[in-house]
Amino acid sequence: MEKYNSNAVFDRLKQTLARTREFFGRLEQLFQSNRCQEEILEELFELLILADVGVPTSEKIIKDIKEKAKKSGAQDLKAILKQELIDILSQKKSSVEETWPAIWMLVGVNGGGKTTSAAKIAYRYKSQGKKVILAAADTFRAAAQQQLQLWGHKLGLPVIQGQPGADPASIVFDAVQSFKARNYDLLLVDTAGRLHTYTNLMAELEKMKKVISREVPGAPQEILLVLDATIGQNAVVQAREFNRFSGITGVFLTKLDGTAKGGSVLAVVEELQLPVKFIGTGESEKDLIEFSPESFVEALLS
Ligand code: GDP
Repeated sequence: MEKYNSNAVFDRLKQTLARTREFFGRLEQLFQSNRCQEEILEELFELLILADVGVPTSEKIIKDIKEKAKKSGAQDLKAILKQELIDILSQKKSSVEETWPAIWMLVGVNGGGKTTSAAKIAYRYKSQGKKVILAAADTFRAAAQQQLQLWGHKLGLPVIQGQPGADPASIVFDAVQSFKARNYDLLLVDTAGRLHTYTNLMAELEKMKKVISREVPGAPQEILLVLDATIGQNAVVQAREFNRFSGITGVFLTKLDGTAKGGSVLAVVEELQLPVKFIGTGESEKDLIEFSPESFVEALLS
């Protein structure tokens, strides 16, 4: 199993962030120019906006850098920026709750990458010798269930599913019974994400969560909100909607390999006060990196 701080993973992270690194790459020149601090910070603000950091978080970054530079009398704005980004990303604990047995839920809008991310997590822990089982609790879309079945087949893992239109909570109930009876280490629940009916969806998610915690006290240990990084600032808007569902423990930010500009990671953490726990770097089961604020910032700025 790769460790995220190994060279191979760090290189992959840098490759994933290639697009964002282009923006931050311009910083080098900027910091080395002999322009005044005011001008440098103005341009930095523009770069942050271009990198999808969003207005509120970019403003905070500039304000903090100004204060820190004034307080310490330091001239090294790059070092101050680096520390500022790490501070923002470390506000909430980003390490994953790896205690077993565990039940984790994946929630988020359809198309964001829930099913694929469930498969990546399943693969990760199966590779570490854990017994993993999957539950397809999106009974609304037959295709979603089929897709999880396909992943289960590929990864050699059981998938619990129900009839189309069945109550998702009943599928979760069945899955939890199998999980307990056969001593699994990890049950991953893939859920529905219909965009147009948030109220019903939130009630449905709450019901699933209730069934899980009634059957296994202390569970679910993780509720990961799956967000598509390519939608930039809209990811923050979506996350706000989902934050109405209580108990989200962190974010799985997908598709950072594509056209995404990684600045949205900063916006998600700062504006939603949710830690990012995993990032998706492609479509295969192996394309997952456990998030680390230090590695992320290092990969952006190195
Ligand atoms: P769901 O509807 O939320 O379950 O989303 P899916 O898991 O079906 O994913 C939607 C699409 O996004 C699929 O084509 C996935 O292959 C793709 N996808 C998911 N995660 C990633 C990622 O990290 N990178 C890339 N490039 N594509 C991804």
